[in-house]
Amino acid sequence: TKITEYFKNSGGKTLFSIEIIPPVKGQHLGELMGHIEPLMEFKPPFIEVTYHREEFIEKLVNGELKRIPIRKRPGTLGICAALMQKFKVEAVPHVICGGFTQEETEDFLIDLHYLGIENVLALRGDQEKGEDRFIPKSGGHAYANELVEQISRMNKGHLLYEETESFPTNFCVGVAAYPEKHFEAVSLDTDLHYLKQKVDAGADYVVTQMFFDNQKYFDFVKACRAIGIQVPIIPGIKPLATAKQLEVLPAIFHLEIPQELAKSVLSASNPAGIKQAGIEWAIQQGKELIQAGVPALHFYTMSKSDSVRSIASALF
Ligand code: FAD
Repeated sequence: TKITEYFKNSGGKTLFSIEIIPPVKGQHLGELMGHIEPLMEFKPPFIEVTYHREEFIEKLVNGELKRIPIRKRPGTLGICAALMQKFKVEAVPHVICGGFTQEETEDFLIDLHYLGIENVLALRGDQEKGEDRFIPKSGGHAYANELVEQISRMNKGHLLYEETESFPTNFCVGVAAYPEKHFEAVSLDTDLHYLKQKVDAGADYVVTQMFFDNQKYFDFVKACRAIGIQVPIIPGIKPLATAKQLEVLPAIFHLEIPQELAKSVLSASNPAGIKQAGIEWAIQQGKELIQAGVPALHFYTMSKSDSVRSIASALF
Protein backbone atom coordinates (compact mmCIF):
# COMPACT_ATOMS: atom_id res chain seq x y z
CA THR A 1 0.00 0.00 0.00
CA LYS A 2 1.19 3.50 -0.80
CA ILE A 3 1.93 5.80 2.12
CA THR A 4 -0.30 8.43 0.59
CA GLU A 5 -3.23 5.98 0.72
CA TYR A 6 -2.78 5.73 4.49
CA PHE A 7 -2.99 9.51 4.74
CA LYS A 8 -6.09 9.60 2.52
CA ASN A 9 -7.82 6.89 4.52
CA SER A 10 -6.89 8.07 8.02
CA GLY A 11 -10.08 10.09 8.44
CA GLY A 12 -8.02 13.12 9.36
CA LYS A 13 -6.28 11.30 12.21
CA THR A 14 -2.56 11.93 12.64
CA LEU A 15 -0.59 8.72 12.12
CA PHE A 16 2.50 7.58 14.01
CA SER A 17 5.63 6.63 12.06
CA ILE A 18 9.31 6.08 12.72
CA GLU A 19 12.71 6.11 11.06
CA ILE A 20 15.32 3.56 12.04
CA ILE A 21 18.97 3.17 11.11
CA PRO A 22 20.61 -0.17 10.29
CA PRO A 23 22.95 -1.50 12.99
CA VAL A 24 26.69 -1.05 12.67
CA LYS A 25 28.09 -3.76 10.39
CA GLY A 26 28.52 -7.05 12.22
CA GLN A 27 25.84 -6.51 14.83
CA HIS A 28 22.77 -8.65 15.20
CA LEU A 29 19.40 -7.42 14.06
CA GLY A 30 17.78 -8.67 17.27
CA GLU A 31 18.57 -5.56 19.27
CA LEU A 32 17.05 -3.27 16.66
CA MET A 33 13.95 -5.44 16.37
CA GLY A 34 13.69 -5.37 20.17
CA HIS A 35 13.56 -1.57 20.04
CA ILE A 36 10.91 -1.53 17.34
CA GLU A 37 8.63 -4.09 18.96
CA PRO A 38 7.37 -1.86 21.83
CA LEU A 39 6.49 0.85 19.30
CA MET A 40 4.22 -1.41 17.29
CA GLU A 41 1.33 -0.85 19.72
CA PHE A 42 1.07 2.66 18.22
CA LYS A 43 0.43 1.05 14.83
CA PRO A 44 2.90 2.76 12.53
CA PRO A 45 1.65 2.04 9.00
CA PHE A 46 5.20 2.52 7.74
CA ILE A 47 8.78 2.42 9.00
CA GLU A 48 11.56 4.21 7.15
CA VAL A 49 15.01 2.67 6.98
CA THR A 50 17.99 4.91 6.27
CA TYR A 51 20.67 4.14 3.67
CA HIS A 52 24.30 4.80 4.39
CA ARG A 53 26.91 5.53 1.77
CA GLU A 54 30.34 3.94 1.73
CA GLU A 55 33.16 5.56 3.60
CA PHE A 56 36.74 5.16 2.48
CA ILE A 57 39.44 3.85 4.78
CA GLU A 58 43.13 3.67 3.99
CA LYS A 59 44.81 0.34 4.58
CA LEU A 60 48.23 -1.13 3.80
CA VAL A 61 47.72 -4.12 1.52
CA ASN A 62 50.94 -5.92 0.51
CA GLY A 63 52.93 -2.84 1.36
CA GLU A 64 50.72 -0.62 -0.77
CA LEU A 65 48.38 2.01 0.72
CA LYS A 66 44.92 1.31 -0.62
CA ARG A 67 41.67 3.26 -0.35
CA ILE A 68 39.01 0.75 0.55
CA PRO A 69 35.27 1.49 0.46
CA ILE A 70 33.49 0.27 3.59
CA ARG A 71 29.80 0.61 4.28
CA LYS A 72 29.54 0.94 8.05
CA ARG A 73 25.80 0.34 8.20
CA PRO A 74 24.81 -2.00 5.40
CA GLY A 75 21.57 -3.96 5.36
CA THR A 76 18.84 -1.45 4.44
CA LEU A 77 17.18 -3.83 2.01
CA GLY A 78 17.42 -6.87 4.30
CA ILE A 79 16.00 -4.91 7.22
CA CYS A 80 13.07 -3.78 5.05
CA ALA A 81 12.33 -7.40 4.16
CA ALA A 82 12.60 -8.44 7.83
CA LEU A 83 10.26 -5.61 8.94
CA MET A 84 7.61 -6.53 6.40
CA GLN A 85 7.79 -10.16 7.39
CA LYS A 86 7.82 -9.68 11.16
CA PHE A 87 5.56 -6.66 11.65
CA LYS A 88 3.48 -6.59 8.46
CA VAL A 89 4.20 -2.88 7.98
CA GLU A 90 5.23 -0.93 4.92
CA ALA A 91 9.00 -0.71 4.97
CA VAL A 92 10.27 2.43 3.26
CA PRO A 93 13.91 2.19 2.23
CA HIS A 94 15.81 5.40 1.68
CA VAL A 95 17.44 5.48 -1.75
CA ILE A 96 20.44 7.78 -2.14
CA CYS A 97 22.26 9.14 -5.18
CA GLY A 98 25.70 9.27 -3.53
CA GLY A 99 27.96 6.40 -4.57
CA PHE A 100 25.58 5.00 -7.19
CA THR A 101 25.50 5.11 -10.97
CA GLN A 102 22.05 5.39 -12.52
CA GLU A 103 22.28 1.76 -13.65
CA GLU A 104 23.05 0.61 -10.10
CA THR A 105 20.11 2.65 -8.84
CA GLU A 106 17.88 1.07 -11.47
CA ASP A 107 18.92 -2.42 -10.35
CA PHE A 108 18.35 -1.53 -6.70
CA LEU A 109 14.86 -0.25 -7.53
CA ILE A 110 14.13 -3.47 -9.43
CA ASP A 111 15.13 -5.42 -6.30
CA LEU A 112 12.75 -3.29 -4.22
CA HIS A 113 9.97 -3.84 -6.74
CA TYR A 114 10.50 -7.63 -6.70
CA LEU A 115 10.38 -7.57 -2.88
CA GLY A 116 6.96 -5.90 -2.99
CA ILE A 117 8.19 -2.56 -1.67
CA GLU A 118 5.93 0.23 -2.91
CA ASN A 119 7.34 3.28 -1.12
CA VAL A 120 10.78 4.87 -1.20
CA LEU A 121 12.32 8.07 0.14
CA ALA A 122 14.50 9.55 -2.61
CA LEU A 123 17.53 11.48 -1.38
CA ARG A 124 20.73 12.89 -2.70
CA GLY A 125 22.82 11.99 0.35
CA ASP A 126 25.57 14.00 1.97
CA GLN A 127 29.06 14.60 0.70
CA GLU A 128 31.70 11.97 1.34
CA LYS A 129 33.67 12.41 4.56
CA GLY A 130 36.63 14.67 3.83
CA GLU A 131 34.96 16.27 0.78
CA ASP A 132 33.63 19.80 1.08
CA ARG A 133 30.75 19.28 -1.36
CA PHE A 134 28.68 16.47 -2.77
CA ILE A 135 30.28 14.83 -5.80
CA PRO A 136 28.15 12.30 -7.66
CA LYS A 137 29.66 9.01 -8.76
CA SER A 138 30.47 9.14 -12.46
CA GLY A 139 27.17 8.35 -14.19
CA GLY A 140 25.19 9.03 -11.02
CA HIS A 141 22.67 11.69 -10.10
CA ALA A 142 23.81 15.08 -8.81
CA TYR A 143 20.51 16.00 -7.11
CA ALA A 144 17.53 14.20 -5.68
CA ASN A 145 15.15 15.59 -8.33
CA GLU A 146 17.00 13.53 -10.94
CA LEU A 147 16.49 10.39 -8.86
CA VAL A 148 12.79 11.19 -8.52
CA GLU A 149 12.64 11.59 -12.32
CA GLN A 150 14.29 8.20 -12.79
CA ILE A 151 11.74 6.54 -10.47
CA SER A 152 8.86 8.33 -12.21
CA ARG A 153 10.13 7.04 -15.56
CA MET A 154 10.29 3.50 -14.16
CA ASN A 155 6.74 3.93 -12.89
CA LYS A 156 5.79 4.59 -16.52
CA GLY A 157 7.64 1.48 -17.67
CA HIS A 158 10.80 3.16 -18.95
CA LEU A 159 14.18 1.79 -18.01
CA LEU A 160 17.38 3.71 -18.74
CA TYR A 161 17.92 2.06 -22.09
CA GLU A 162 14.73 1.85 -24.00
CA GLU A 163 15.83 -1.27 -25.88
CA THR A 164 15.69 -3.16 -22.57
CA GLU A 165 12.37 -4.87 -22.06
CA SER A 166 10.57 -2.82 -19.43
CA PHE A 167 7.80 -3.20 -16.89
CA PRO A 168 6.14 -0.48 -14.83
CA THR A 169 7.04 -0.18 -11.17
CA ASN A 170 4.53 1.47 -8.89
CA PHE A 171 6.54 3.42 -6.34
CA CYS A 172 5.12 6.10 -4.11
CA VAL A 173 8.00 8.55 -3.71
CA GLY A 174 8.86 10.68 -0.70
CA VAL A 175 11.50 13.41 -0.60
CA ALA A 176 13.31 15.35 2.12
CA ALA A 177 12.80 19.00 3.06
CA TYR A 178 14.27 21.41 5.56
CA PRO A 179 12.05 23.89 7.45
CA GLU A 180 15.25 25.67 8.53
CA LYS A 181 16.75 25.48 5.01
CA HIS A 182 19.21 22.94 3.64
CA PHE A 183 22.68 24.09 4.62
CA GLU A 184 23.93 24.39 1.04
CA ALA A 185 21.02 26.49 -0.21
CA VAL A 186 21.68 30.23 -0.46
CA SER A 187 18.16 31.01 0.71
CA LEU A 188 14.98 29.28 1.81
CA ASP A 189 13.38 30.49 -1.43
CA THR A 190 15.87 28.70 -3.67
CA ASP A 191 15.63 25.61 -1.48
CA LEU A 192 11.85 25.69 -1.85
CA HIS A 193 12.20 26.12 -5.59
CA TYR A 194 14.21 22.88 -5.72
CA LEU A 195 11.73 21.14 -3.43
CA LYS A 196 8.99 22.09 -5.88
CA GLN A 197 11.14 20.65 -8.65
CA LYS A 198 11.22 17.32 -6.79
CA VAL A 199 7.46 17.36 -6.36
CA ASP A 200 6.92 18.31 -10.00
CA ALA A 201 9.21 15.41 -10.95
CA GLY A 202 6.77 13.05 -9.21
CA ALA A 203 7.31 13.13 -5.44
CA ASP A 204 4.12 12.15 -3.62
CA TYR A 205 4.99 13.31 -0.12
CA VAL A 206 7.62 15.20 1.84
CA VAL A 207 9.31 14.37 5.15
CA THR A 208 10.96 17.21 7.01
CA GLN A 209 14.24 17.35 8.80
CA MET A 210 13.83 17.45 12.56
CA PHE A 211 12.90 20.82 14.09
CA PHE A 212 12.26 21.88 17.67
CA ASP A 213 10.22 24.98 17.03
CA ASN A 214 6.83 24.21 15.51
CA GLN A 215 6.48 27.73 14.16
CA LYS A 216 9.32 26.94 11.73
CA TYR A 217 7.30 23.99 10.40
CA PHE A 218 4.07 25.98 10.15
CA ASP A 219 5.81 28.81 8.27
CA PHE A 220 7.50 26.30 6.01
CA VAL A 221 4.26 24.53 5.10
CA LYS A 222 2.66 27.89 4.37
CA ALA A 223 5.55 28.85 2.09
CA CYS A 224 5.32 25.48 0.31
CA ARG A 225 1.59 25.87 -0.29
CA ALA A 226 2.15 29.42 -1.55
CA ILE A 227 4.37 28.16 -4.39
CA GLY A 228 2.04 25.30 -5.28
CA ILE A 229 3.49 22.34 -3.36
CA GLN A 230 0.30 20.46 -2.50
CA VAL A 231 1.55 17.06 -1.29
CA PRO A 232 1.48 15.97 2.39
CA ILE A 233 4.37 17.40 4.43
CA ILE A 234 5.24 15.08 7.32
CA PRO A 235 6.93 16.72 10.31
CA GLY A 236 10.04 14.96 11.63
CA ILE A 237 10.46 14.91 15.40
CA LYS A 238 13.49 13.95 17.40
CA PRO A 239 13.39 13.77 21.17
CA LEU A 240 16.46 15.47 22.52
CA ALA A 241 18.16 13.01 24.87
CA THR A 242 21.51 14.43 26.05
CA ALA A 243 22.95 17.84 26.92
CA LYS A 244 25.63 17.30 24.26
CA GLN A 245 22.92 17.28 21.58
CA LEU A 246 22.31 20.96 22.29
CA GLU A 247 25.53 21.54 20.36
CA VAL A 248 25.73 18.46 18.17
CA LEU A 249 22.28 18.67 16.54
CA PRO A 250 22.63 22.30 15.36
CA ALA A 251 26.13 21.53 14.06
CA ILE A 252 25.12 18.42 12.12
CA PHE A 253 21.60 19.31 11.03
CA HIS A 254 21.82 23.10 10.77
CA LEU A 255 18.87 23.89 13.00
CA GLU A 256 18.11 26.02 16.00
CA ILE A 257 17.26 24.78 19.48
CA PRO A 258 14.78 27.11 21.22
CA GLN A 259 16.22 28.76 24.33
CA GLU A 260 13.38 27.46 26.43
CA LEU A 261 14.26 23.85 25.54
CA ALA A 262 17.97 24.47 26.14
CA LYS A 263 17.13 26.00 29.50
CA SER A 264 15.05 23.06 30.68
CA VAL A 265 17.73 20.61 29.52
CA LEU A 266 20.49 22.54 31.28
CA SER A 267 18.52 22.86 34.48
CA ALA A 268 18.05 19.08 34.73
CA SER A 269 20.35 17.60 37.33
CA ASN A 270 21.00 14.18 35.82
CA PRO A 271 20.81 12.24 32.52
CA ALA A 272 17.31 10.94 33.31
CA GLY A 273 16.12 14.51 33.93
CA ILE A 274 17.59 15.65 30.61
CA LYS A 275 15.86 12.83 28.78
CA GLN A 276 12.60 13.72 30.49
CA ALA A 277 12.97 17.36 29.42
CA GLY A 278 13.40 16.17 25.81
CA ILE A 279 10.36 13.91 26.10
CA GLU A 280 8.18 16.68 27.50
CA TRP A 281 9.23 19.08 24.77
CA ALA A 282 8.45 16.52 22.06
CA ILE A 283 5.04 15.83 23.64
CA GLN A 284 4.20 19.55 23.52
CA GLN A 285 5.39 19.74 19.91
CA GLY A 286 3.34 16.66 19.05
CA LYS A 287 0.17 17.96 20.69
CA GLU A 288 0.29 21.19 18.74
CA LEU A 289 1.11 19.44 15.46
CA ILE A 290 -1.73 16.94 15.92
CA GLN A 291 -4.07 19.81 16.65
CA ALA A 292 -2.95 21.43 13.42
CA GLY A 293 -3.96 18.22 11.63
CA VAL A 294 -0.58 17.00 10.34
CA PRO A 295 -0.81 13.70 8.40
CA ALA A 296 1.71 11.90 10.63
CA LEU A 297 4.28 12.50 13.32
CA HIS A 298 7.49 10.95 12.08
CA PHE A 299 9.96 10.11 14.84
CA TYR A 300 13.69 9.90 14.37
CA THR A 301 14.30 7.04 16.78
CA MET A 302 18.04 6.60 16.14
CA SER A 303 17.00 2.99 16.70
CA LYS A 304 16.23 3.53 20.39
CA SER A 305 12.65 3.24 21.54
CA ASP A 306 12.34 4.40 25.16
CA SER A 307 11.86 8.16 24.64
CA VAL A 308 9.66 7.72 21.58
CA ARG A 309 7.55 5.19 23.48
CA SER A 310 6.88 7.67 26.29
CA ILE A 311 6.00 10.39 23.79
CA ALA A 312 3.74 8.13 21.72
CA SER A 313 1.96 6.93 24.89
CA ALA A 314 1.09 10.53 25.68
CA LEU A 315 -0.05 11.38 22.15
CA PHE A 316 -1.63 8.34 20.49
P1 FAD B 1 18.52 17.68 -2.78
O1 FAD B 1 17.06 17.80 -2.81
O2 FAD B 1 19.22 17.22 -4.01
O3 FAD B 1 19.09 19.10 -2.31
C1 FAD B 1 20.46 19.26 -1.97
C2 FAD B 1 20.84 20.73 -2.06
O4 FAD B 1 20.94 21.14 -3.43
C3 FAD B 1 19.84 21.71 -1.44
O5 FAD B 1 20.57 22.78 -0.91
C4 FAD B 1 18.98 22.17 -2.60
O6 FAD B 1 18.47 23.46 -2.40
C5 FAD B 1 19.95 22.12 -3.76
N1 FAD B 1 19.36 21.60 -5.01
C6 FAD B 1 18.43 20.64 -5.13
N2 FAD B 1 18.21 20.38 -6.44
C7 FAD B 1 19.02 21.17 -7.15
C8 FAD B 1 19.27 21.33 -8.55
N3 FAD B 1 18.60 20.62 -9.45
N4 FAD B 1 20.21 22.24 -8.94
C9 FAD B 1 20.89 22.97 -8.01
N5 FAD B 1 20.70 22.86 -6.67
C10 FAD B 1 19.78 21.96 -6.24
N6 FAD B 1 21.15 10.92 4.07
C11 FAD B 1 21.63 9.68 3.83
O7 FAD B 1 22.78 9.53 3.41
N7 FAD B 1 20.87 8.58 4.05
C12 FAD B 1 19.59 8.66 4.51
O8 FAD B 1 18.93 7.64 4.70
C13 FAD B 1 19.05 9.95 4.76
N8 FAD B 1 17.77 10.13 5.19
C14 FAD B 1 17.24 11.39 5.34
C15 FAD B 1 15.88 11.53 5.68
C16 FAD B 1 15.32 12.79 5.83
C17 FAD B 1 13.85 12.92 6.18
C18 FAD B 1 16.13 13.95 5.67
C19 FAD B 1 15.54 15.31 5.87
C20 FAD B 1 17.47 13.82 5.31
C21 FAD B 1 18.05 12.55 5.13
N9 FAD B 1 19.38 12.36 4.74
C22 FAD B 1 19.88 11.09 4.53
C23 FAD B 1 20.27 13.52 4.57
C24 FAD B 1 20.28 14.05 3.12
O9 FAD B 1 20.82 13.10 2.26
C25 FAD B 1 21.12 15.34 3.11
O10 FAD B 1 20.49 16.35 3.82
C26 FAD B 1 21.59 15.83 1.74
O11 FAD B 1 22.58 16.81 1.96
C27 FAD B 1 20.50 16.45 0.89
O12 FAD B 1 19.64 15.51 0.41
P2 FAD B 1 18.32 15.93 -0.41
O13 FAD B 1 17.70 14.70 -0.92
O14 FAD B 1 17.51 16.86 0.39
O15 FAD B 1 19.03 16.72 -1.62
